[in-house]
Amino acid sequence: MTLQKRPKPFQYFKDVRIFLITVSVVVMLFMSAIYLIRYLTVNELLIQTVRHEATSYAQLIVLTRHWNARYGGVYVEKKPGVESNPYLKELGIDPDIRTADGRVLTLRNPAIMIREISELAREENSVGFHMVSLRNLNPENQPDDFERAALERFARGEREHWQFDRSGGKPVFRYVLPLVVEEACLACHRQQSYNKGDIRGGVSVMIPAEGLVAQMRTNRNQIVIDIIVTIGILLAILYFLAWKLVGRLDETQKRLKHIAATDELTGLKNRRHIMEHTHKEYQRAVRTGGTLSIILLDIDHFKRVNDSLGHAFGDKVLQAVAQEMQGGLRSYDLLGRIGGEEFLIASPGSTLDDAAGLAERIRQKIKGRKISDRTREISVTVSAGVTSLSEQDASADVILQRADEALYLAKQQGRDRVVSV
Ligand code: GH3
Ligand code: MG
Ligand code: MG
Repeated sequence: MTLQKRPKPFQYFKDVRIFLITVSVVVMLFMSAIYLIRYLTVNELLIQTVRHEATSYAQLIVLTRHWNARYGGVYVEKKPGVESNPYLKELGIDPDIRTADGRVLTLRNPAIMIREISELAREENSVGFHMVSLRNLNPENQPDDFERAALERFARGEREHWQFDRSGGKPVFRYVLPLVVEEACLACHRQQSYNKGDIRGGVSVMIPAEGLVAQMRTNRNQIVIDIIVTIGILLAILYFLAWKLVGRLDETQKRLKHIAATDELTGLKNRRHIMEHTHKEYQRAVRTGGTLSIILLDIDHFKRVNDSLGHAFGDKVLQAVAQEMQGGLRSYDLLGRIGGEEFLIASPGSTLDDAAGLAERIRQKIKGRKISDRTREISVTVSAGVTSLSEQDASADVILQRADEALYLAKQQGRDRVVSV
C-alpha cells in the first residue's frame, strides 16, 4: 500500500509565490493605510481637545481684560503685597487715589490684573498664561521664540498658533491667541501708537500635556499592535486558504495525470503512457549501458470469447488477464494495455532470459486462471513475444518491431507459448 502524500504548505507555495507576495503586500499596505488614518484621526481628536481647552482659557482671559478695560481699570485697596503698578507711572498715569475716609486705592489695569490672575492659576492648577507683545512695557512679558513666531504669524493674518513643547522637562501644550486693540485699550496704549483693530500682542497659554502625550503614546502602541494582529490574522487566513487551494489543485493535477495515463477497463497504463515510458527506458539503457527487455502479450482467439460469451464477458476476461500479469511483475517492470487484447511489459535491467522467464510465468498463471460468472467458466491462453535491447538497435521502435515479430511467430507456432528473439 502506498501512503498518500499530504500537501506540505511551503513546498506548494512556490507555485503561487508571486500571487501570495503581491496579495500580502497589498494587504499590508491597505491595512497600514487604514490604521495610519485611524492613528492620525485619534491624534487629531486628542489635539483638538487640548486646543479647545487652551482656546477657552485664552478667550476667558481676553474677556476678563475687556471687562477691566471697559471700566478703564478697577481700584483695589493698597496694602502690603498690593502695590502700585509701576508701569502706569511710565505712561504718565498716577495709579493711586485716596478716599475721603483716608484709605489708599490703587489702579488694577488689565495688564497687571491678568498677570496677577496668571500667578494665581499657576499656583492652583499648573496652567500658565501671560500676555505677550512685541512692544511691551513689562520686560516679563517679553515673548520667547515660540511666542515671537506666533506674533509674527498673527501679523500675517493667522488667528491662532500652537505647538507641543517641553517645560521643566515635562511635555506641555502651548497656545497663543491674538489680542486685538479695542477702543477701551487706547486710553492707555494710544501712546504706543496702536490703532483700533491692530494686533498688539497675544495671550499665551501653557497647559500640562503629560496625560495627552501618554494617551497619544497609548494610541500609537495600540495601533501598532492592531496592525500586527490584523495583518497577521489576514495573512494567516490567506496562506491557509492558498495552502488548501494549492493542495487541492495539486491533487486534481495528480488525478488528471493518472487518468491521462491509465486504461479505464483494466486499470493498467494506457498505450500512450507505456509507449512513452518504453522510449524513455530505451534512452536510459543506451545512456547507462544497461539492458532493457520488451514482452508483448496477446490473448489467443479472443474474438471467439467475445463471439461466444459476449463483449461483457470479454471485458471480464481482459480484467482477469491484466490482474494476473500485474501480479507477476517486479517493481521496476511496467505493464500497459496497448490495444484490444494486447499488452506490453517494459522490463529494464532484465536480460532476454529473465524476460522470457517472466513471460513464461505469466503465460502459465493466466492459463491456470479460471474466469467465471454465475453460469460460465473458462480459461484463456496468451502468446508472448520477447526481445532485448542489442547494440544495433537504433531506436525503441526497432525493439518493439522485433517483439511484435516474436509474437507473430508465437501465434504461427500454435499460440499459448513464449518466443524470444
Ligand atoms: P489471435 O489468437 O490471433 O490473437 O486471435 P484473436 O481473436 O485474439 O485476435 P483478433 O485481433 O482477431 O481479435 C481481437 C478481438 O478483441 C477483436 C475485438 O472484438 C476484441 N476486442 C478488442 N478490444 C476489446 C475490448 O475492449 N473488450 C472486448 N470485450 N473485446 C475487445
Ligand atoms: Mg488475440
Ligand atoms: Mg491482437
